[in-house]
Amino acid sequence: MNYYVLSLFPEIIENSLNASITGRAIEKEIITLTSVDIRDFSDNKHMKVDDYPYGGGAGLVIKPTCVYDAYLHTLSLIKNQKKPRVVYMTPQGSVFNQKKAADFAKEEDLIILCGHYEGIDERVLETIVTDYVSIGDYVLTGGEIASVIVMDAVSRLVPGVLGNSESAFTDTFSDGLLEYPQYTRPEEFLGMKVPEVLRSGHHGNVEKWRHEQKLIRTRKNRPDLYEKYIMLHPEEELKD
Ligand code: SAM
Repeated sequence: MNYYVLSLFPEIIENSLNASITGRAIEKEIITLTSVDIRDFSDNKHMKVDDYPYGGGAGLVIKPTCVYDAYLHTLSLIKNQKKPRVVYMTPQGSVFNQKKAADFAKEEDLIILCGHYEGIDERVLETIVTDYVSIGDYVLTGGEIASVIVMDAVSRLVPGVLGNSESAFTDTFSDGLLEYPQYTRPEEFLGMKVPEVLRSGHHGNVEKWRHEQKLIRTRKNRPDLYEKYIMLHPEEELKD
């Protein structure tokens, strides 16, 4: 998976993605990150990339020319014949979720475009963007952090990124339910013991208990997901 991120603040992206699990994956070249600084494509001697909005109103809008030139430069770096998807991070997009992460994880190259200020001139978006993605119903100052969230979630699904490849398949959302509670040593903490069943060594009972916990948790914390799941698996509906 090769990420190409077009933004005005590449340092936010690099500092975040180069740490921890994604950082190790970059070191091992399982994923690559190429940051493209939109400012490098300014046609102005002061390196200005934004201007006042036509029609008036607050804030500044990123010019289409520098975004388009940054995009053309990015395309020139990509060896693949297939035109990559271009994801624009925007609060106006469809909300990112695990399904979308799995969909993006199938790509070999992904271009991610981050806005700032009041956003980006609509004409260049219409020309290059294939996917409009939001990370939730709130407005951030820029798309950089949003892009890191997307790349982090996608990278976990790229084979070889997680040490224990199994964990991505048991995680919350992988089967439409939240994950069961997890415990580690010590066996007793502040007077609370690890549930007996997890110490029993009985694999079948552990699986049964975990599945039940998933249902209990999902019903309590995310009744919307629970309803959806029970529609598909009515025999699993909790009795109490
Ligand atoms: N004026 C825009 C609007 O009302 O839709 C908001 C612009 S926002 C202040 C600046 C940039 O932050 C956007 O261009 C986008 O790239 C990013 N951004 C803000 N909120 C976001 C969200 N919830 N998800 C993804 N990107 C977001």
